[in-house]
Amino acid sequence: MKISLMKKLSIAIVIAILGSIVLTSFISNYFVSRKFQEYLIDEHKTKENEAIKMIEGLYTDQNTIKNKGEIQRYAELQTMFIEVKDLNDNILYSSGSNYLKGNGRMKNMMGSIMNNFSGMNLNDYTENKYPLTVNSKNVGSITIGYFGTSFITSGSVDFISALNHSFLLSGFIALIFALIISVIISKGISKPIKNITDIANNMREGNLDIRSQTNTNTKEINDLSNSINYLAETLSHQEMLRKRLTSDISHELRTPLTTLKTHIEAFIDGIWEPTPERFNAFYNEIERLTKLVDNLRNLSKYEQENLKLNISRVNLSKELEKIIDSFTPMYNKENYALVSTLSPDIFAYVDSDKFTQIMTNLLSNSFRYLKKDGLVKVILDKVKDNIIIQIIDNGIGISEKDLPHIFERFYRSDISRAKNTGGSGIGLTITKALVEAHGGKVSVESKEGNGTTFTLVFPSE
Ligand code: ADP
Repeated sequence: MKISLMKKLSIAIVIAILGSIVLTSFISNYFVSRKFQEYLIDEHKTKENEAIKMIEGLYTDQNTIKNKGEIQRYAELQTMFIEVKDLNDNILYSSGSNYLKGNGRMKNMMGSIMNNFSGMNLNDYTENKYPLTVNSKNVGSITIGYFGTSFITSGSVDFISALNHSFLLSGFIALIFALIISVIISKGISKPIKNITDIANNMREGNLDIRSQTNTNTKEINDLSNSINYLAETLSHQEMLRKRLTSDISHELRTPLTTLKTHIEAFIDGIWEPTPERFNAFYNEIERLTKLVDNLRNLSKYEQENLKLNISRVNLSKELEKIIDSFTPMYNKENYALVSTLSPDIFAYVDSDKFTQIMTNLLSNSFRYLKKDGLVKVILDKVKDNIIIQIIDNGIGISEKDLPHIFERFYRSDISRAKNTGGSGIGLTITKALVEAHGGKVSVESKEGNGTTFTLVFPSE
């Protein structure tokens, strides 16, 4: 059975609060009652002492007690049994043996008191015997008897019952308070979560423009709301890319195919002579198509989460030198300069084929977008735990509008399209996927007209 979050939270909060109230009430009731009992016993001791003092004051030299009425009043007032005997066990005074032991009215009264002090026996009659000492001389004995609870006055009973009532009342008030608080708290948590769930359901149905507006100060829910918005953003971006990818692929394929088709039609119709130059142009178009298809295949492979890399410990300084050497003739042919500053013997764990591909992509791009007096500098260095490679060119640069998009699939600047560079807008997407598969990062800085710098950061071994 599924319970709503709000119900679950409310029940949990109410149970927690109720549990703590019951527990606190029991514990405080127990300790207060115990302390109170101790206090009452102390009080009773004081009364016994008072009685003894009074009897000692009323003892006369003739071995008698004067003013017995005073003791009687005291005994009745304090519900005590008092008996005074001389050294020969002759009773000098007795408050009456039946007074306490047989007093049914008093038993009833004490019975009600007992409800407040569990564990005490109503018939628990106790007698204490004290010496009767006058002028430091033992002249007899005083017996003081009382029932287990007879020292509990009605005032103390009131106190205990008021205490219990206050526990009950505060428990009841706390319960209402707990109910209100639990509803407020659980609503505050469950409502935004429900909103976010609605947004997610909306997204599932294809509405990727919807965003969560959840306004809450609960950090986790806020994070969840931001994450769902980020997800929506990413999904709609991916959706846009997917649509663009399809239209870009068809566009990229259609252009060379149309050229080939019209040219071959011209051959068939006899409008054009099949010359080696024209076949060469065909060959180049087919080459471009093949490269595009290869790139597409590679891209889907490289963008997989678990791209398999053939990692080994590679001397990047030497590897880069080799790559740069292989590019130098191509640069020289166009009168461009390709220079490098490589810190020696920098090692890293990389897939050397993929590393070559990363550098080939970047150096081909730089070459492609150079101007007259083109210069490309490659720098390899190690800073703290990072290996940094920079490819700096003084080419045409990238406009601010294009810069955030150049790593996207098929993204080509208008200039690149106009120049008909032969690129397909996939090179940098592949480069980024490969660098990230190595745990690295690629970034770009560029100023239109001045040149571009690509920076690769790889974790060092
Ligand atoms: P392409 O195959 O078109 O070069 P890339 O993915 O390699 O595709 O590059 C994407 C776009 O980034 C290019 O069309 C170009 O506009 C821009 N770009 C990449 N490298 C450079 C560079 N070194 N100088 C200027 N523009 C560049």
